[in-house]
Amino acid sequence: ALLANIGSPDDAERVAPAAVEGVGLFHTEVMFLDRTTAPTREEQAREYARVLRALGGRKVVVRTLDAGADKPLAFADQAEEENPALGVRGYRLVRTVPHLLDTQLAALADAARETGVEPWVMAPMVSTPAEARDFAAAARSHGLTTVGVMVEVPAAALRARAILAEVDFVSMGTNDLAQYTMATDRLCGALGDLIDRWQPAVLDLVAATAAAAGEAGKPAGVCGESAADPAMAVVLAGLGVTSLSMSATAVPAVRFALAAHTREQARAVADAALAAADATTARVAAVAAMDAEVVAALALA
Ligand code: PEP
Ligand code: MG
Repeated sequence: ALLANIGSPDDAERVAPAAVEGVGLFHTEVMFLDRTTAPTREEQAREYARVLRALGGRKVVVRTLDAGADKPLAFADQAEEENPALGVRGYRLVRTVPHLLDTQLAALADAARETGVEPWVMAPMVSTPAEARDFAAAARSHGLTTVGVMVEVPAAALRARAILAEVDFVSMGTNDLAQYTMATDRLCGALGDLIDRWQPAVLDLVAATAAAAGEAGKPAGVCGESAADPAMAVVLAGLGVTSLSMSATAVPAVRFALAAHTREQARAVADAALAAADATTARVAAVAAMDAEVVAALALA
């Protein structure tokens, strides 16, 4: 399934006419980046209802607030942290400002009731099965029925089977998964070669997560920037990833690349990338294993 990433109801209305099966990542924090006070339950419910309505019943995966580190929110402000990317961010805010998550889940449940559309909901930056269990219990206590977590911390990928026992689906945030796997700040351009999405270690964690989801019979998506790269999309499909969520503008090229390969062929492309020793050769090997017409048409070589 090919899905769109959005950050607001306006985005939802913009992507609705696109040929996508829905929204795979609604970054809810984007709507609140300029706010100094927390949005109320009513305000949030209005925004979420607009998004659900805009997609007309298609799948919408709503991510709860991912504040902290590279996404500072004034009303979720933390004490000064030396390493904020390793600090209280994402789902961890439930330890310091639990009412934010509770209000957000209540607002989302309100929007679901009002529109009659059942959203999927997921938490960012989950590290342990216990966090997944607690989040799932909180979401279900509000009446939300399809609950997942993001896999963007290596610990969650390594223990994906136990995480999947607690939730209905997982979605891999490959931007953060690369950051934490490679111990490389995603904002540090000078280290871009280390955080390259083709790093075989990152692909190994995606493969492990997708395999665990396959065994559990549950969906495992990718919603990081990897999903928008047509060659990587073939690798991800080959690894068993079940949906890709990206900027709507990236969808046509990704669809074109995927449509030219069978599942078996995609698996061979993924195997070629996994066998490589480094990021550069992983990409070269994957592209060499792809359909030549796709490679030429998208100028991937
Ligand atoms: C990711 O980490 O890949 C992701 C999708 O989330 P964000 O980029 O918003 O942290
Ligand atoms: Mg992330």
